[in-house]
Amino acid sequence: MTKPDTPRLGVVGAGTMGSGIALAALYAGLPVVLQDVDTDAQEKALDYIRTHLERKGLSEHEEGLSLTAALTDLSGVDFVVEAAPEDLGLKRDLFARLDEICPPPAVLTTNTSTLAVTAIAAATETPGRVAGMHFFNPAPVLPLVEVVRAARTTPETVAAVVALAERIGKTPVVTDDTPGFIVNRVARPFYGEALRMLGEGVATHEEIDWILEAAAQFPMGPFRLLDLIGIDVNYAATQSVFEQTFFEPRYRPHRIQRRMVQQNALGRKTGRGFYEYGEDGQPHDRPGAVDGERLEGVVRISPGSWAPGLAEMCRAAGYTVSETPSVEERTAVGFVVAGRAEGAREWLEGFDRDLGPEVPLLLQASDLTVGEAATWIGRAERLAGFDGLFLREGVPITLAPGPRLSGECRERVDAFARSLGQPPVWVSDSPALVAPRVVACLANEAAHAVQEGVADPDTIDRAMQLGVNYPRGPLGWSRALGARRVLAVLDHLWAEYREPRYRAATRLRQWAREETLDRRAPAGRREAA
Ligand code: NAD
Repeated sequence: MTKPDTPRLGVVGAGTMGSGIALAALYAGLPVVLQDVDTDAQEKALDYIRTHLERKGLSEHEEGLSLTAALTDLSGVDFVVEAAPEDLGLKRDLFARLDEICPPPAVLTTNTSTLAVTAIAAATETPGRVAGMHFFNPAPVLPLVEVVRAARTTPETVAAVVALAERIGKTPVVTDDTPGFIVNRVARPFYGEALRMLGEGVATHEEIDWILEAAAQFPMGPFRLLDLIGIDVNYAATQSVFEQTFFEPRYRPHRIQRRMVQQNALGRKTGRGFYEYGEDGQPHDRPGAVDGERLEGVVRISPGSWAPGLAEMCRAAGYTVSETPSVEERTAVGFVVAGRAEGAREWLEGFDRDLGPEVPLLLQASDLTVGEAATWIGRAERLAGFDGLFLREGVPITLAPGPRLSGECRERVDAFARSLGQPPVWVSDSPALVAPRVVACLANEAAHAVQEGVADPDTIDRAMQLGVNYPRGPLGWSRALGARRVLAVLDHLWAEYREPRYRAATRLRQWAREETLDRRAPAGRREAA
């Protein structure tokens, strides 16, 4: 299927997406026939396109645009992108008609976010030339296009759609026709886990956003993003993926989201969602960095992959740090490494036995519940937990009180965090705290997608970085933290909740085992590999 250098594009539907897709194509100098049954929508689209072409100094490209209400005016185009409302019956009708109006070799694509492309293609006599071409909003700006291979899509059609996406300056990624494709599927835990944490009272929505933005470096926390996307739109996408997967528990929608939709608190577009929006459309401010005084005492830190980073922070704040603690150092803030396999219990028992009662113990609690560890020691009133996986200078440190933490020890831990320049965020003692829980569930979702053959790891990571601006792909994260650690977080979630949504993907377990084998391999063999 060879396509001309300047293919003619037909766009069905001139709403948010259709007008954006048309504009992206006009920027690239392609002729576009933009069709919409509604003349108001046509006018709005023309205004929008004209303004943006002018801003780019490309007004002459408007000559390439024709607007029409008649679908038959699409005869003679090389590609169609359908961007009519998300309604399977409507889309199937349109494709049955397009099949006749635009005969092969024209390629027919749909911009559906959540419907099965295979079901839309089945309305035509020629499903081999039908594919998904999923742009992201705003289409002229966001670089990603998911090219969706339906059950009968031919490789030539996939190649033609990839070439078209590239021709209009986009980055295509090819994916199978599974619910949510890549981005809308892999991103589900970002919202789902955040909503569950809010529902369980782990933290407020502001705190969850703050931790994920500052410590894990997401450009927008889940609640701010939900408000931007539209809580109703996100709820519909979640429901669709949930139903299409025969109610896979990982995608179960949350009652908080439904309640927000019921009261028309849909986010920015209604002026109120998780946040109230002022006239500038911005949510309220949050506390900035802190500057606390150094406390008296030596910091004793037990071994762990996260420990060197923490030790460095402590030294930078003027503390004397002991990374190989000995009993002589009595006055100290003690830190204990977590991880069942890493002897957390022994360290905790040792510190509890050897240190004076005024010394707080902080447990690295990404895969260990503070409440459980409190039952191992004699003086539970000195135990608190923290997230050591997402520690970075100057960003909030997530802290969790043990069940018996005394007011005095809590104050001391708080002051210690401030003295490191880390604003403390106290959340309730909950499995995997905040950032490790969300990131591990994203990595697990990506591993499930790889396992099911939706796309390969690099494609998934690229799609998440380009489609939703994640600072890192979920599998890149898994590599950076270590698949074993990610698996430990998931197994911890599973052990605490006993819910199938936290079962680890077999592929993730395989990666974790490979990591163990690599660590055990003699150095020579590792280098040769
Ligand atoms: P929209 O409501 O803004 O626009 C749909 C347009 O289609 C309207 O202008 C409407 O008049 C027109 N229309 C209705 N019936 C028609 C028909 N029979 N023939 C031609 N035009 C018709 O919707 P949207 O947000 O642009 O979404 C369009 C598609 O893109 C949906 O499938 C949606 O799932 C998908 N999508 C949306 C987004 C998003 O963020 N909005 C992102 C990616 C994909």
